[in-house]
Amino acid sequence: MATQPRARYLDGPVAIIGAGIGGLTAALSLQHSGVAVRVFEQARALREIGAGVTITPNAMNALDFLGIGPALAEQAGETPRYVVRSAADGRELERGPDPGSFVPEFGASYRNLHRGDLHLALTDAVTKSDPDAIALDHRFDHLEQDGETVIAHFSNGTTFEAPALIGADGGASAVRDAVFGGQDASYTGHVALRALVPFTRVPRAVIADPYALYVGTGRSLIHYPLRRQTTMNLLGNAQAPQWQAEGWSIPATVEEFLGLFDDFPEPVRELIAAVPEQHLFKWGLRDREPLPAWTRGRVTMLGDAAHPMTPYLGQGACMAIEDGMILGRAFAASSQDLTEAFSRYEAARRDRANGVQLAARYQGTQHHGSTASGPGSGKTAATLGLFSYNPVTEPI
Ligand SMILES: Cc1cc2nc3c(=O)[nH]c(=O)nc-3n(C[C@H](O)[C@H](O)[C@H](O)COP(=O)(O)OP(=O)(O)OC[C@H]3O[C@@H](n4cnc5c(N)ncnc54)[C@H](O)[C@@H]3O)c2cc1C
Repeated sequence: MATQPRARYLDGPVAIIGAGIGGLTAALSLQHSGVAVRVFEQARALREIGAGVTITPNAMNALDFLGIGPALAEQAGETPRYVVRSAADGRELERGPDPGSFVPEFGASYRNLHRGDLHLALTDAVTKSDPDAIALDHRFDHLEQDGETVIAHFSNGTTFEAPALIGADGGASAVRDAVFGGQDASYTGHVALRALVPFTRVPRAVIADPYALYVGTGRSLIHYPLRRQTTMNLLGNAQAPQWQAEGWSIPATVEEFLGLFDDFPEPVRELIAAVPEQHLFKWGLRDREPLPAWTRGRVTMLGDAAHPMTPYLGQGACMAIEDGMILGRAFAASSQDLTEAFSRYEAARRDRANGVQLAARYQGTQHHGSTASGPGSGKTAATLGLFSYNPVTEPI
């Protein structure tokens, strides 16, 4: 990968906490800018949950620029045109743009990826550039910083001293807690259920209408194909007032899923019924108020650590990718001073990501009909115009 001269104020690798989609994109973008990184991940092995992730042209522009977009597009295959449907009767409410229009209009394609494929592509690219870039089994615990340096302390007893530290440790960020103090995420009253269904089990009516979002009172459900039409990704959101448990992978049952969507149109019910046992998981959706600042001294944050969001615009990973891309560019553009690099980064990112965070919350209420206009009046990321931001060329 072509690199640019390294910023002179960096006298050692930048520490990134968390090897998720945002942390790894930042690592790759910093490497591209000639900045060495060490990514510290709490897990003992690198892995992602089995689910789909929608990568829209705004984020795909960054993946293309960083060199991993074309292979991911090849793995994913073509993206069908999406349709928004009424959960009451299956009626079409909105038809998404022609997938062929994305490259001419926004410079990049729109792909539905398997999260594992995206994570592996990022990991491979980062370690190809530097085999020692990722340290596993390092759970960040706390930090100390002064005008010169930041020291990260890990629960395995080790420490790492760096000129700068990036908190990319997700929605329950320990970096955010360490720097800005604890702020609990509040439960939104919605539970999400997810499954991957092999195409051999997918009902014909769903294969004929492969990318659909059904919106109904208090609930929505989306399905779309992955890996060249071999797997169907299924994601449902429903109200569940009493949710307690933490985590993204709590086992759920087909019976429970069907019970929540029993009045949705028949193809959807058939698809839920086709989910193989033990392949169904749920998690409680949590939300936080946007933060007025992401940076303190030599520490900043990105992705869900900075702006966790509900899934109603499918933009959480896309925002993390945009953050990571811009962060690397901000280092490349600021040759003298870390303060300048972080200021450029936050100035380019905070209004955009915090705005999408609030929009996702609002569109959830619109999709689910908790307003006078009823279900289905929500906008999508496409109709909100979110694809026209390009993190590769956005002024910083
Ligand atoms: C099922 C599902 C479907 C989704 N679909 C979409 C979609 O279609 N489109 C979209 O744009 N977004 C989607 N999202 C949201 C998106 O996945 C998240 O917004 C995105 O993963 C955030 O990336 P991140 O890197 O900030 O955090 P994460 O992906 O959560 O990564 C954080 C990493 O930090 C590590 N970590 C945590 N704490 C510590 C610690 N103390 N020390 C060291 N490491 C730590 C974690 O193990 C993890 O590897 C979806 C989410 C889910 C769960």
